[in-house]
This record gives sequence, structure tokens and C-alpha cells, in this order.
Amino acid sequence: MNNIKKRRDVPFNDIKRRYTSIKGEIDTAIQRVLSKGWFILGSEVKEFEAAFAEYLGAKYAVAVGSGTEALHLALIACDLKPGDEVITVPNTAIPTISAISFAQLKPVFVDIDPDTYCMNVELIEEKINQRTRAIIPVHLYGNACDMEDLMSIAKKYGLQVIEDACQAHGAYYKGKRLGTFGHFGCFSFYPTKNLGAFGDGGMVVTNDVKNANKINLLRNYGQVKRYYHEIKGFNSRLDEIQAAILNVQLPYLDTWNKRRREIASLYRKLIYHPQIVLPPEQADVYQIYHLFIIRCVKRDRLRTFLSNNGIGTEIHYPVPCHLQNAYKDLGYSISNYPITEGIVAEILSLPMYPELIEEEIQYVADVMNRFDLDDPITL
Ligand SMILES: *Cc1c(COP(=O)(O)O)cnc(C)c1O
Repeated sequence: MNNIKKRRDVPFNDIKRRYTSIKGEIDTAIQRVLSKGWFILGSEVKEFEAAFAEYLGAKYAVAVGSGTEALHLALIACDLKPGDEVITVPNTAIPTISAISFAQLKPVFVDIDPDTYCMNVELIEEKINQRTRAIIPVHLYGNACDMEDLMSIAKKYGLQVIEDACQAHGAYYKGKRLGTFGHFGCFSFYPTKNLGAFGDGGMVVTNDVKNANKINLLRNYGQVKRYYHEIKGFNSRLDEIQAAILNVQLPYLDTWNKRRREIASLYRKLIYHPQIVLPPEQADVYQIYHLFIIRCVKRDRLRTFLSNNGIGTEIHYPVPCHLQNAYKDLGYSISNYPITEGIVAEILSLPMYPELIEEEIQYVADVMNRFDLDDPITL
């Protein structure tokens, strides 16, 4: 108790710090768009698409309105029939599943691997049947799914693979960037992501020109040229102001990810508590710690304790997708996905963003180490 010098506030996240650190460049970029007076599908979006594709090592990148829409449009581009099945995980952000339902498809869940918190690839084959058409692996928390085995299963059964890389901008799996393994890679630029706009945004990447062209039509009313519509489309576009903001930020992404990894190793070094489990690491994955997830059997009490000491935390996610009210019609109950159901009561996300300073990281670790599982009033 007496080794804590003074209480400080460490917010769970603080986007304003990012803005402040690059304020001049951001303000200039926004002004540039305003004075050009061109706001939808212009040169900023083109430039960002080219830069993002090059960054990942993908052939094509098509900017869309959000991560959810990136997944939705990728599914639409697969030309599936209503009721066709898409395999994914119950431990993910709900938009993964919303995109499947928007496309009138059926989500089929595969439990996660306790060593990665991502899809357990060994459980995929038993879920494949005549109606299975696609797999959506989710690279959750900035960690990676086993893409090598997953791709060979997909190939064997002729399935489309749409990577949900909304939490994995810039992460590598076996030396290759996530989002470039499947037929489509989908990204979100929601403000808190590792690469975040100051509003909504998303991207679909692909190596197939036909897929790129299709997403290009789908995002813009299905039109090939103005007022000529080849297919039934949507309105899902990244706007010029957001693209300009992202053009400023992309060159910083690798540095920011590196900093997140430094913070993760500091947490690993400084947090030593027998009842707190640190996040999994995989030898062949360069994970980018979108979130830093610890586990504790007395999670709720730990969360209150941290909060009483000024430290913000979150739970990603408290209710697995198969148990959400919105998906009751799928007919799942508790005990269908034991690994996912087991971790949701224990997981806790600690503050994790590149602008955290050393004193804050040390403070979080000190408070964590002081947590007494059995004493409800250690404050
Ligand atoms: C953020 C996120 C999405 C959705 O992105 P939006 O841009 O908010 O629509 C999808 N999947 C995962 C795993 C996410 O974290």
C-alpha cells in the first residue's frame, strides 16, 4: 500500500492525446479539403487507398463507410444466397455478426482457442456442411488467427475467406500482414482503432481485381459511371475529410504499434500477481495490442479496485455474440461455447494506447500488484 506514491487518473483511452500530438498536420489536412470544396470520392480517398494497399502489401484497397460495411460489402460481393452459412467466432465485436445478418446469411460459430483468444481452427471442419460458403476469422485484440491452416481448410472446401482485421492494422502473421491472406481483408477506422479516423470509416482490401471492382460499385449505388447502375448497390463511402485525416496518420502507424508493443512488454514485466493472467503471445505473430487483455477470477472486484484508484478499464466483450438478445433466434444457450463463455467472466482490458507515459504504466502495474483477491476493501 505504501509503495503507491500518489493517486493519478489513467483513462482507459484518450483520443485527444493522439490529436494533440499531430495537431498541426491534421488541421492543415482538414483545411486543404475544405478549400478544395470536394468532399466525396476525390483525391484524398484515392491517395489513402493506394497508400493503405501498399502498406499492407495488397493489390487493391477500396475505402468504405465503416468496418461493418467493409464486411457486409465483402459478403455481398461473394454472391451468396439467403440462408447460406458463414463460419465465425462468438468472441468478437457484434458488428462481425451484424454484417452476416445484413447480408441475409446465417452465422455459425466456432469456439476460440484459449492460447490466442481467436478462432480454434481445429473446430472448423465439423461445422462445414452443404450450405457453408465462407469463413470470417477475426484477428481479435490485435492478435492473429492461425491463417495457414485456416486457408488450407478453405481451399479444400472451396470457401471464401473474409478476414475481420478491424483490430489488427499492421499486425503480421508469419511475416505477412493480416488482412492479406483471405479473399478479402476488412478494416475499420473507428476512432479508437490502431489507425482511427475522427469519425467512421472502413476499407476492403483484396488481391483480385474483380473483387475490387465489385466493392467499388457496391459502395457507390452500383454505378459504373454517373447515373448508370450495373448492380444494386449501397451508399458506403469514406469521405474526403476522414481520408485526409487518415493520410496524415498512416505514416505513424508502425511507430504507434511499436509503442503499443513496448507498453505490453512493460505491463508484462511490471505486473506480477499470482492471480492475474497476462495475454497470450504467439511466436510467429507480430501482435499489435489493439487491446491488452488480462484475466482474473475476481474480475469485477479488480475492476472496481482499479476504478477506485483512478484507472479506467473495459470488458471486450461481456456477452458473447451467441448469447446476445438480438441473436436469440439462432437458438444457442450457455454451454455451447465453453472457452468463450469461460473467459468472458474473467477478461479485463487495461489502458493501452501509444500516448501512455511510463509513470502511468508503472502506476497501473503498482495498483494491480496491490490487489488483494480476498479483501473486498483494499482501496
Ligand atoms: C470495430 C470492429 C468492427 C466494426 O467496425 P465499425 O467501423 O465500428 O463498423 C468489426 N469487427 C471488429 C472485430 C471490430 O473491432
